Amino acid sequence: MNRLVVVSNRVAVANGRKQAAGGLAVALRGAMEKSGGIWFGWSGKVAGATSAVPTMTETENIVYATVDLSRKDHKEYYNGFANRALWPLFHYRLDLATFEREDYSGYQRVNRLFASKLNPLLEDDDLIWVHDYHLIPLGQELRDAGITQTIGFFLHIPFPAVEILTALPSHRKLVHDLCAYDVVGFQTENDLRAFLDYIVHEADGKVIKGNVIEAFGRRLRADVFPISIDTDEFVRAGLDSGKSSIVKRMQERTENIDWIIGVDRLDYSKGLVQRMEAFERFLEKYPGHRGKVSLIQIAPPSRSEVPEYVEIRTELETESGHINGRFAEFDWVPINYLNKSYARNDLAGFYRSSRVGLVTPLRDGMNLVAKEYVAAQNPHDPGVLILSRFAGAARELSGALIVNPFDIEEVADALALALDMSLEDRRERWMSMMKVLSGHTLDDWLKSFIDALNRAPYTGRQLS
Ligand code: UDP
Repeated sequence: MNRLVVVSNRVAVANGRKQAAGGLAVALRGAMEKSGGIWFGWSGKVAGATSAVPTMTETENIVYATVDLSRKDHKEYYNGFANRALWPLFHYRLDLATFEREDYSGYQRVNRLFASKLNPLLEDDDLIWVHDYHLIPLGQELRDAGITQTIGFFLHIPFPAVEILTALPSHRKLVHDLCAYDVVGFQTENDLRAFLDYIVHEADGKVIKGNVIEAFGRRLRADVFPISIDTDEFVRAGLDSGKSSIVKRMQERTENIDWIIGVDRLDYSKGLVQRMEAFERFLEKYPGHRGKVSLIQIAPPSRSEVPEYVEIRTELETESGHINGRFAEFDWVPINYLNKSYARNDLAGFYRSSRVGLVTPLRDGMNLVAKEYVAAQNPHDPGVLILSRFAGAARELSGALIVNPFDIEEVADALALALDMSLEDRRERWMSMMKVLSGHTLDDWLKSFIDALNRAPYTGRQLS
């Protein structure tokens, strides 16, 4: 078994508390523990200077190699190019994208630096797996440094249509760099189609059989690997959730209130403003539900140094305040808007206690909350998932009520439909979604990507 080297922007160094890590971190660690592994990336610390040598921590067959970033590197690479250019652009928000030359050179500089720090740690038979939009140029940087090992890349966020991507001044270089990998993985067919469209129509490349493509003088595999959740873990967490004291408090109130739950990082891609507007429209149009239904919106702040995130936060405070001011009674609040994060076990209990899961991003690579909501339900009395057609998860979870999040009226009607849905319909929809989630778990996703790496070269080497 080849050693697995994972590179991601943030590294979740194991600290013995399994709960503190997300599902993906736990699964990646599991794979690395088996084969031996290195997990390389940013430590999450901003320091006076970028680290000259990575800090190494070793536990359970995994070496964590982390680098602190200087203020300038953090500002240009992370807050700048990754989160003010690529993130909005890849989520179809050209209106929010900022293209600064310094940010792009900071992005390239940090990728080059990561490559130079990772290079000495590599061994001949390593499989290298690079994650997400922060690190697109890393493969090319490693190739430039003479690395010939198999390198794969997985994009966790959407890949935009050619017309959107070409608005990025450095689009050609970015796609050129993607082609330095042996395997490039996307969340959905839609993302893959957009990439292939670019390869054929912008890069003069070719699609060969079996998702192998040729472009920029390289041959590689581009394919779909939809990420999933540890389904069993969420089923168990849902079952056990009654033990948690805050979940108990929520369940006590369920006798009088039907909960609608939303759980999202505070991000403009999640469609939170439109969601609140749809909830307001629902209360207007279906007055019989007033006093009996509440929206609990969990929205932990993220990327608070990026101005667009400060703006969306203010907008949501205004919107939730407006709706509560308009409809609240002394004994009923329409929206419980919470700017804090909860442990996954508590979330599982919140999901299970909620009649409706409201997941309406304007654009989302996958959206794991949608899958978690389904897995945590009580099979005898499951809730209804309302899911945006623009979430990657909508491709798999056809048992949800699929909505257009921009259509406020449609989402308002879906809320009424979900709350009035018969047990028989709820069970049928839920079972169809559980079948999908049991048949394709996070472990299956991990194995299929590593298997694709093992089958390389397709090849990503230079064609003669
Ligand atoms: N999450 C959490 N606590 C919270 C809110 C979210 O642990 O208070 C987790 C949630 O369970 C999910 C992840 O954060 O696993 C969010 O993933 P998703 O794909 O839905 O969105 P992203 O934040 O990656 O855009």
